[in-house]
Amino acid sequence: MQEEIIDIKDVSKMFATEQGLSIQALEPVSLRVKENDFICLVGPSGCGKSTLLRIMAGLEQASSGQILYRGSMVTKPDKRLGMVFQEYSLLPWRTVLDNVGLGLELARKPAEYCRKTAIKYLEMVGLENFAGSYPYELSGGMRQRVAIARALANDPDVLLMDEPFGALDAHTRIILQKELLKVWEANRKTIVFVTHSVDEAIYLADRIVVMTAGPGNIKGQIDVSMPRPRDRANPAYGKLSARILDMLEEEVAASQGVGYKQ
Ligand code: ADP
Ligand code: MG
Repeated sequence: MQEEIIDIKDVSKMFATEQGLSIQALEPVSLRVKENDFICLVGPSGCGKSTLLRIMAGLEQASSGQILYRGSMVTKPDKRLGMVFQEYSLLPWRTVLDNVGLGLELARKPAEYCRKTAIKYLEMVGLENFAGSYPYELSGGMRQRVAIARALANDPDVLLMDEPFGALDAHTRIILQKELLKVWEANRKTIVFVTHSVDEAIYLADRIVVMTAGPGNIKGQIDVSMPRPRDRANPAYGKLSARILDMLEEEVAASQGVGYKQ
């Protein structure tokens, strides 16, 4: 039995603008994530996906409701919940090895342990030969692999990934999707992955959570039961994709106030 590890309970978020207005980014959202789940969140741009993920990571406070991680409230960043951002967010003055070992170094682990652990995760993402390189010497795909290795090196329970492949070309993106599935299977992590690519969500997820246009709420949840590795040529893949794209189109139309009934 998979244990439930994240319980999002009626989490909403209001932001105050500099002009003193308030923007509701999220309506009360409830969602449960079980151990080893691979969840993809898809939704129109601006619907609050990043906000929800940041609240899950403890980087942002909810305006109401709460998030429980293994039964305790998330109020600040926790190293068991690792975040990977869209932009590579590597430190340019540190080598690849030192970027991957950064979290361990900050946790004051011994230098040799930091080095060995960093190498282990660089091997996992196929970049052990680039340990001494600097981020500017790497391609976008390689930098994102380093960011994933860095998150894994802290050995989080849960990886929270915010459009991690959004800036990559289509080919590199497909390669990294495959690699991420391997890492997920080998390390038994729980992953919550934000993407606006429906294709990517179907390739990766056990469950796809479709969000409404802002203020974000959950429009529907779809279990994806096709066996992995998933075949994009499978008619079921295309059918599911069309269904989710329809749901999103409805949302985009709603947010633009055209042809959608309340
Ligand atoms: P998504 O990731 O789905 O594109 P976001 O979570 O980034 O959406 O944003 C949701 C809404 O909240 C948007 O309207 C955005 O402008 C607003 N928002 C996000 N962060 C802030 C902030 N720090 N201050 C004010 N408004 C914000
Ligand atoms: Mg976002």
